[in-house]
Amino acid sequence: MARLFLLLAILLAIFWWLGSRVRARRAAPPPADADVPRQGAHPDGNRRAQEPMVPCAHCGVHLPRSEAIAYQGLHYCRAGHLPDAQDRSDDRGGPA
Ligand SMILES: [Zn+2]
Repeated sequence: MARLFLLLAILLAIFWWLGSRVRARRAAPPPADADVPRQGAHPDGNRRAQEPMVPCAHCGVHLPRSEAIAYQGLHYCRAGHLPDAQDRSDDRGGPA
């Protein structure tokens, strides 16, 4: 019976050791991306640099996704570049 407890203790120790190794690997910081250029000297520049950039479907300007206007699966940099806004301006400037 004592041997069974000893076996159980050894198994628990192995599981604890494996678990701590996995946790240590997850807690380790990801490899530093030396290739990523640091753009901007703003204090929040890093936060913005980590955001995914999306191109404006109208003019192609890249901007952070949170600042882009999502419309019909595309992103736009400003309301004036939305397709509807172009239609409206076309109607206004169309032939009389
Ligand atoms: Zn645009």
